[in-house]
Amino acid sequence: MHRITIQSSLHAITASSQEWWRRMVFCGFPAVCSGPANPAGIMVSMTFWIDTHCHLDANEFSADVAAVRARAAASGVAHCVLPAVRVANFEAVRLLAHEFSFSYGLGIHPLCVPAAKETDLQTLDEELTRRKADPRLVAVGEIGLDYFVPVLTESPMRERQEHFYREQLKLARKHGLPVILHVRRSADKLLKHLRELAPMGGWSGIAHAFNGSAQQAMEFIKLGFKLGFGGALTFEPARQLRRLAAELPLEALVLETDSPDMAPQWLYTTVAQRAAGQPQGRNEPGQLPRIAQQLASLRGISFEALALVTTANALQALPKVKGLIAC
Ligand SMILES: [Zn+2]
Repeated sequence: MHRITIQSSLHAITASSQEWWRRMVFCGFPAVCSGPANPAGIMVSMTFWIDTHCHLDANEFSADVAAVRARAAASGVAHCVLPAVRVANFEAVRLLAHEFSFSYGLGIHPLCVPAAKETDLQTLDEELTRRKADPRLVAVGEIGLDYFVPVLTESPMRERQEHFYREQLKLARKHGLPVILHVRRSADKLLKHLRELAPMGGWSGIAHAFNGSAQQAMEFIKLGFKLGFGGALTFEPARQLRRLAAELPLEALVLETDSPDMAPQWLYTTVAQRAAGQPQGRNEPGQLPRIAQQLASLRGISFEALALVTTANALQALPKVKGLIAC
């Protein structure tokens, strides 16, 4: 249990975060407003977090997703965003988001492009229309470009994933939704299309599992994106990523687990360990606060201040989530 006062923590966070925080506190957000007032300010009973990217519909969770959700809540993860990756899991993420009071995105992931049909883009458009009034549909995603997997970097799949990415950006623009981006060795190309297709009011959304350069990060930020950080920053050899996480503007960071993937260092098993029969550790949203603790240390700020700012950032990136967790 972490207790803080508004006064003691606000100096570390931005004006926009403060505004959101005041509004949230005085509106009575249940997870944080249960503490009594004291002479120094309003006591907050617990920090809370938003996992901005997790795949709870994955097979890895089929046996115990309710327990995973309970552990997330117990650890202070108040909300999870579930991005879809292909048409076949649109319904699963929607149902899970409703069952657990979470939110979801709809999109076709670049790794799913080889198996996708051209008509899937039309299906996505129809589904975005059908779910327009659904408060839990908060983004188009997960979409993007992957230039790490060899088959996707060669013709014709290279062009095909670019086509799917572009068409889905147009759908995000048409339906007025933020975008959740998959970025793997593809930042410059992603940015090029974002610039070409920018909506009148600009983009909002998240470049998830960001691992580009500082310069590329600043370009995403300029376009209106937040950058997602998760388990990868818990590995000491990931020096460039840890430097980015430590030095990028705090207002640009959101947290994510990418569960069941991106296991943090304490769950990760090496190739040799796996060969010896030890399974890869499964990541889950309840790990987020421990990952966040490492980010707070890297930045030299308090755990609580990081929770406040990254939550405010997530709500800025995915504005419909505000209506799901605040008053
Ligand atoms: Zn993902």
